[in-house]
Amino acid sequence: MTYFSTNRQTRDVPLKDVIVKGLAPDGGLFMPECIEPFSPDFFDSMYGMGLQEIAFRVALHFFGKDIPASDLEKMTYDTLNFPIPLVHLHDRLYVLELFHGPTMAFKDVGARFMARLLGYLTEREDREVNVLVATSGDTGSAVANGFFKVPGIRVFVLYPKGLVSPIQEKQFTTLGENITALEINGTFDDCQRMAKQAFADEALNERLKLTSANSINWARLLPQSFYYFWGVAQMGKKADHIVCAVPSGNFGNICSGLIAKRLGLPIHRFIAATNINDIVPGYLADGKFQPRPSVATIANAMDVGNPSNFARILELYDRSHKAVCADVDGFVCSDDDIRTTIREIFNHRKYLLDPHGAVGYKALDNYLGKHPDNCGFFIETAHPAKFTEVVEAATGTKIPLPEKLARFAAGTKQTEELPATFDALKEFLMNRHT
Ligand SMILES: *Cc1c(COP(=O)(O)O)cnc(C)c1O
Repeated sequence: MTYFSTNRQTRDVPLKDVIVKGLAPDGGLFMPECIEPFSPDFFDSMYGMGLQEIAFRVALHFFGKDIPASDLEKMTYDTLNFPIPLVHLHDRLYVLELFHGPTMAFKDVGARFMARLLGYLTEREDREVNVLVATSGDTGSAVANGFFKVPGIRVFVLYPKGLVSPIQEKQFTTLGENITALEINGTFDDCQRMAKQAFADEALNERLKLTSANSINWARLLPQSFYYFWGVAQMGKKADHIVCAVPSGNFGNICSGLIAKRLGLPIHRFIAATNINDIVPGYLADGKFQPRPSVATIANAMDVGNPSNFARILELYDRSHKAVCADVDGFVCSDDDIRTTIREIFNHRKYLLDPHGAVGYKALDNYLGKHPDNCGFFIETAHPAKFTEVVEAATGTKIPLPEKLARFAAGTKQTEELPATFDALKEFLMNRHT
């Protein structure tokens, strides 16, 4: 299978280049040349399969012409070595818990798969591959842990000094081995700018093999479609008119769901649920896509003013507003709504939501209230203990630190501190490798 760019200036790109380059040379995002639906046979048998088997079948559907089935099977089974349970909350409403991975956020799925795929595709090269990733928190921890000890790959995590939460910082600064944390004296925007400049710098790219692991990489996007199949399989064959609510920021997660639907997965509708950074719900309402600077909220992993994967969604629907609206609804949640939802669901349902999941819950509950024939699930994108301050304030209860996070908290922070300039980063990277 080959890939093209959403900016349409690049075509027929093979899988290896798509994964190693991340972004197309024309600045667009890579999309597969064709998305062929599964045969009805697949859906007949899907309900009897487990998560890893389903994931393998979906991976094979996309990558089977490029990678031998046995290698792909190992990659998918390794990636998904933790459960993704569907939990019934009340009435026709369910939650798909994506926080049982090593860093307790859904980004573990994409990051773990990308690490294995990139390692596999570059295995025969004599040069080490250097992954640069800028983070404001969750991405850095998922990527660092996903790539931890993968042979032939070194990861540099750029993060703003003092601006990520202590527990998030521990998740990518305590690993050591092939993970180097770069503590930048600046903001997240500085980190992102420095990484972008590095990818564009000729001298640096001549010296080092550089690649990006942010969410625009197809290797992080496609594996996210696995768990939509698994969610529907757990809803059971009899479930009808399934609606799926996805808390969204850069729109990678929901884009993976829409790809699953295009493969024939019976999801009736998606709800794009955002905090007050409501660029996409705005587009759904009036057809105008108007990016603007993001506003800080308590669901901060979704504070995005120009959602990068929106270009892929438009491509999927031939840029037709009408076609997008036929599959996707929008929903917007204020910080007050988020706090109230966390409190009410904890008090009445004994279920603890994180601020992002609360946006998904509210979107779905609202939708199901108006559509008595529908049922559905929302994606819980992170464990509530990752956002203790907000969740403890909303519920008035102390949240114990799960074992997985406590282990990171006990580790020793190791970082290299750098000024927020590209020259400083370049000098650091060049000298490391002489
Ligand atoms: C990254 C993230 C999101 C947003 O996902 P997108 O794919 O960018 O839409 C939502 N919740 C949490 C906890 C996240 O880390």
